[in-house]
Amino acid sequence: MNIVANWSYPTAIKMGRGRIKELADACKSLGMRKPLLITDRGLAPMQITQAALEVLEEAGLGRAIFADVDPNPNEKNLEAGIKAYKDSGHDGVVAFGGGSGLDLGKCVAFMAGQTRPVWDFEDIGDWWTRANSDGIAPIVAVPTTAGTGSEVGRASVITNSVTHVKKIIFHPKFLPGVVICDPELTVGMPKMITAGTGMDAFAHCLEAYSSPFYHPMSQGIALEGMRLVREFLPRAYHDGTDIEARTNMMAAAAMGATAFQKGLGAIHALSHPIGAVYNTHHGMTNAVVMPPVLRFNRHAIEDRIERAAAYLGIAGGFDGFYDYVLSLRAELHVPENLTAMGIANDRIDELSAMAIEDPSAGGNPVKLTLENTKQLFADCF
Ligand SMILES: [Zn+2]
Repeated sequence: MNIVANWSYPTAIKMGRGRIKELADACKSLGMRKPLLITDRGLAPMQITQAALEVLEEAGLGRAIFADVDPNPNEKNLEAGIKAYKDSGHDGVVAFGGGSGLDLGKCVAFMAGQTRPVWDFEDIGDWWTRANSDGIAPIVAVPTTAGTGSEVGRASVITNSVTHVKKIIFHPKFLPGVVICDPELTVGMPKMITAGTGMDAFAHCLEAYSSPFYHPMSQGIALEGMRLVREFLPRAYHDGTDIEARTNMMAAAAMGATAFQKGLGAIHALSHPIGAVYNTHHGMTNAVVMPPVLRFNRHAIEDRIERAAAYLGIAGGFDGFYDYVLSLRAELHVPENLTAMGIANDRIDELSAMAIEDPSAGGNPVKLTLENTKQLFADCF
């Protein structure tokens, strides 16, 4: 089946094999004449990136690239990116990559028109209204993985290089004007990254679906997102060239991030500090802590997980869903627990203190306290 689709929700999305060829048209549609492609160091020399630059060059838009981006982009990467953008007189950004390229690209486009420091736009209350929204440059996003969903997100995660704390920088105009989801860009992903990013998409759907806030639209998107992961993640994992599976995983990733406007929960609240302290893969860490979090939340989410199980075609209600998660993890070779991930259980107090302060904690269906979070962490080893 060859999937080609144009969606306008939550933004303009051009979905389908080979659509990277429309990159220059997408830039022009947003008024760009001199875009800056922003990606990470690892992706910069790769064929998919060079091919994207060629599309821009052939259309007379130049082939400018900024790739001084760390795996967890920080404010230094951001300053360098803004400087590159301004020095060469660019008028828009192509945010290209996995989470880091997408997040930094979006943030450069945003900060190019601001005078305040980036930390003034952390996702707290109405801080985003401090921004000069006329100064925000247009953004085309091109995901090269299928997991973070940052291509349809209204925020970027920027790590403070001094404190190592990850901050969410938010503005509604972070949402790219056009997204190009070309599954061929994800074909070369290693198995481990396919598994980790895919489980991140699943975690976004599961946590959005489980969070207690009222948002029925998000609920529906999250449910179908989980179904797509169930059907297509094992296929994409076992055969990376399966374009139908890759396409549907790109859709699931975008759906997860669309859904989690409703909230995330303890999977992410635990995973963020583990990633910050031990530099583990975000999606893989989510997959590792997922079963203990499901057990922890069980009494609050049993009814809705039963409905999800029925929709996904899983027998046995909550227990059936739980067993499904375990079998999916096993199929993707996810480590059994944090110990198997190579982490010692000697910093639980510190990790727990960070987890309850994490922005995701508020969306968990069971309120996280220092005491119960320590217990939850202990269960993850
Ligand atoms: Zn995530």
